[in-house]
Amino acid sequence: KPPTHPLALFGTDLLISDEDRAIRDTVRRFVDDRIRPEIADWYEAGTVPVRELAPELGKLGLLGMHLEGYGCAGTNATAYGLACLELEAGDSGLRSLVSVQGSLAMFAIWQHGSEEQKQEWLPRMAAGEAIGCFGLTEPDFGSNPAGMRTRATRSGEDWVLTGTKMWITNGSVADVAVVWAQTEEGVRGFVVPTDTPGFSAPEITKKLSLRASVTSELVLDNVRLPASAMLPDAKGLSGPLSCLTEARFGIIFGSLGAARDCLETAIRYAGERQIFDKPLAAYQLTQAKLADMTLELGKGMLLALHLGRLKDEGTLTSDQVSLGKLNNVREAIAIARETRTILGAAGITLEHPVLRHANNLESVLTYEGTSEIHQLVIGQALTGQAAFR
Ligand code: FAD
Repeated sequence: KPPTHPLALFGTDLLISDEDRAIRDTVRRFVDDRIRPEIADWYEAGTVPVRELAPELGKLGLLGMHLEGYGCAGTNATAYGLACLELEAGDSGLRSLVSVQGSLAMFAIWQHGSEEQKQEWLPRMAAGEAIGCFGLTEPDFGSNPAGMRTRATRSGEDWVLTGTKMWITNGSVADVAVVWAQTEEGVRGFVVPTDTPGFSAPEITKKLSLRASVTSELVLDNVRLPASAMLPDAKGLSGPLSCLTEARFGIIFGSLGAARDCLETAIRYAGERQIFDKPLAAYQLTQAKLADMTLELGKGMLLALHLGRLKDEGTLTSDQVSLGKLNNVREAIAIARETRTILGAAGITLEHPVLRHANNLESVLTYEGTSEIHQLVIGQALTGQAAFR
């Protein structure tokens, strides 16, 4: 019998419309042609040409692709998820670039910004001519952003921002930062052009995960902004949390891309690798691993597509996004690690994508709400008891 692709076994393509499949296939071709030949070198060097890639991603309509107007593609949520999946099959760093640009920085302005802020930034960000970042996390406050110390104080009509943000994707290459700060009226968001005096973004180096992604500290040293820099419609922590729900949705699909790339590698390698005079794929233990990985990939895909439909209908809740993020990232990292065992020593180099994906997924497990935080969200939904503190 000819081999069947793991997802073909589940028949998940039948659940995707022709139009969404066409978008998916375009992104897959871009990743195959543009990213795969280069990604191992970028990863090893710890760099990624964000400035070059952003206009290419913009041309494909992938930046803020599920947003309407202002030069955005305005696709449905499922198509956006499928694009994230294909991008992350290339590398989680590439998907992170697109998630942060579209779901965090652009979404914050699109959802909570003034008309003037939208006109100024969104068309250029959709085209990839302007890069955005999203500064919520601080050195001492990750899972508990309510404790943030960055402050915005009034000086006449102006705002003055002081504080430090940490682990900010795209920080050093950004033209604009959406920065969240404490004010007398609670947490508010600010649109900060990165050439404003007092703003700097030193890059974080020596990472062992997401090496093909720019991660930075943001230092705000008396950054003076006009009154119009505040996002008028984001009041309190619900503002940044609404953006995180958008980005987490992309991760539900995206993480499966890394998992799929690993499983395809495992099947290919096991078919070629001869051990004790027959292919590794012909051993029962290997087949048990492949079968179990296929189950998790397929179940994850069914969950992602289901949640995509709920989002398209407008009924998706943030608790449901937690279900998807927790499950799919956890299973993706398990698949990446299991694949590594099938590749033996060959699995530890950049010759194959698997340890790169596994290492990347360590970050994906942590950002956009750690696994533990999503367990607590689900625990609260089930019991009515908040156990965060
Ligand atoms: P901590 O909050 O210190 O957590 C440490 C451990 O404690 C975790 O296991 C956590 O689950 C656990 N924990 C926390 N609370 C509880 C609890 N109540 N009960 C039990 N256990 C608990 N942030 C941004 O704002 N913008 C970005 O663009 C961005 N990009 C990132 C890129 C990368 C590569 C990485 C690694 C992070 C990025 N982050 C970004 C930050 C990310 O969102 C935080 O790292 C994350 O929220 C976790 O915060 P922390 O690292 O401070 O961990």
